[in-house]
Amino acid sequence: MLKFLHPARKPEVNLRRRDSVTALKNRIAIIGSGLAGSLLGIYLAKKNFQVEMFERRPDMRETEIGGGRSINLALSVRGIHALEEVGVAEKIMRIAISMRGRMIHPLSGDLVFQRYGKDESEVIYATSRSELNKALMTAAEKNKNLHINFSMRCTGMDFETGDVKFVNDTTGEESAFQFRTVIGTDGSASAIRSEMVEKGISQFTLDSLDYGYKELTIPPGPNGKHSIERNALHIWPRKTFMLIALPNLDGSFTCTFFFPHKGEESFESLNSEEKVKSFFTEYFPDATALIPDLTKEFFSNPTGSMVTVKGSPWRVEGKVLLLGDAAHAIVPFFGQGMNCAFEDCTHINRLIQRQMSYGRTPEKIDWKEVFEGFEKTRVKDTNAIADLAVENFVEMRDYVAQPKFQLKKKVERALEEQYPGLFVPKYTMVTFRRIPYSVAYSRGMIQEKILDELCQHITRPEDVDLRKADLLISKELDYIE
Ligand SMILES: Cc1cc2nc3c(=O)[nH]c(=O)nc-3n(C[C@H](O)[C@H](O)[C@H](O)COP(=O)(O)OP(=O)(O)OC[C@H]3O[C@@H](n4cnc5c(N)ncnc54)[C@H](O)[C@@H]3O)c2cc1C
Repeated sequence: MLKFLHPARKPEVNLRRRDSVTALKNRIAIIGSGLAGSLLGIYLAKKNFQVEMFERRPDMRETEIGGGRSINLALSVRGIHALEEVGVAEKIMRIAISMRGRMIHPLSGDLVFQRYGKDESEVIYATSRSELNKALMTAAEKNKNLHINFSMRCTGMDFETGDVKFVNDTTGEESAFQFRTVIGTDGSASAIRSEMVEKGISQFTLDSLDYGYKELTIPPGPNGKHSIERNALHIWPRKTFMLIALPNLDGSFTCTFFFPHKGEESFESLNSEEKVKSFFTEYFPDATALIPDLTKEFFSNPTGSMVTVKGSPWRVEGKVLLLGDAAHAIVPFFGQGMNCAFEDCTHINRLIQRQMSYGRTPEKIDWKEVFEGFEKTRVKDTNAIADLAVENFVEMRDYVAQPKFQLKKKVERALEEQYPGLFVPKYTMVTFRRIPYSVAYSRGMIQEKILDELCQHITRPEDVDLRKADLLISKELDYIE
């Protein structure tokens, strides 16, 4: 059965199947009002498109939504830039906590702090996923030309007619609406992407990591204060697994335990309270003392999975586009999935702006050109950040604790100071600059080789052969903005 959207209000456009395409020309459907979908909605509404959003879940501003994805996220420059463009950054930054670097908790010995950037301007921000999503939805709905339809799970689409099908998981009610332009921001398990694959339009690989993750909580300390350093991302690297913790505004930390799904030491083998307790006490003694509900949370919180999604095409002519995790989900170890999805929205906005700058109105936008341009420029970058994210897992769980890595970090910092704009650390390029991820990737490889060569026979940063550094850098690298 077909139903009207916004039953309380007289619909401006009758969205039944038989409607002519003309009536829907400037109405865009966004499937999924998560992080990317909500942000994209704001961008489009501000450009006077009529936007109809569909979200599988009920409205999270009214209903407590159970656990699923990570509770907090690291927001950095690419994401902040997008939030600034739509005027939401200030609000978000008020509820974000700066993290100046990694606080390494070795199994024995003192804590080690590794700064992320060259100074206080280069920090990342711990942000609540739900607060961010709510703020984006509220900002989106401030536009009269945008509506979010909740409890509408997309179940598929007919690419010929433009009919998109939905079901309400609570009532079982089914519906279908017809659109000329549909953007799928329905996350890593995208229904729109599945339909494209099923119809033989696209090919995607879903590469699941052998590791899962579990969230645990360090509650606020006395007087609601953070019980460990507030302005840091804490890491307990243990070679083949790790625990991390990001601060929350209420004085708590959300810890994420990354661990193999199967094997001798795995989620499968930690199958009793005693085993969990003794494992954590052995490997994370300081953290364990701060997690009072360890075993309760361990067995009641879900074990999440992580997947890299790669493939193409992301579009069906000018009718459908995948964006954000739906097109290119990545593992979370560079803290870039959301930032990258937000950057997608910035790119789309720029491509639309280009057409509008030579006089096209929302009704006359050539979506085929926009979608083609988007995919063409974006695939190499999203592939690059996908690979960087996988590589960074080994760095976080193992290398960060090694003296050689710590030496290389110090030399890297010294070279950055000595050669500004020429030698820019990979982490900086990805996190504090908006240069394409693919450039960060290729330059990162060259710089890594230079670092390896310079650090080969030294144990102190002051012993670096500066003449050799000069020679290698001037030969291999050119300036970036
Ligand atoms: C453990 C973990 C930690 C992370 N940490 C970071 C970090 O620190 N920094 C960072 O930048 N990124 C991080 N990420 C990645 C980040 O969460 C994602 O990249 C980001 O959420 C992608 O946004 P999205 O809008 O594309 O997808 P999502 O946020 O998944 O949103 C998809 C939306 O679509 C809805 N939906 C799904 N299916 C349907 C359907 N069939 N019909 C209608 N609606 C549907 C969902 O309910 C949801 O609202 C992390 C991810 C994980 C798993």
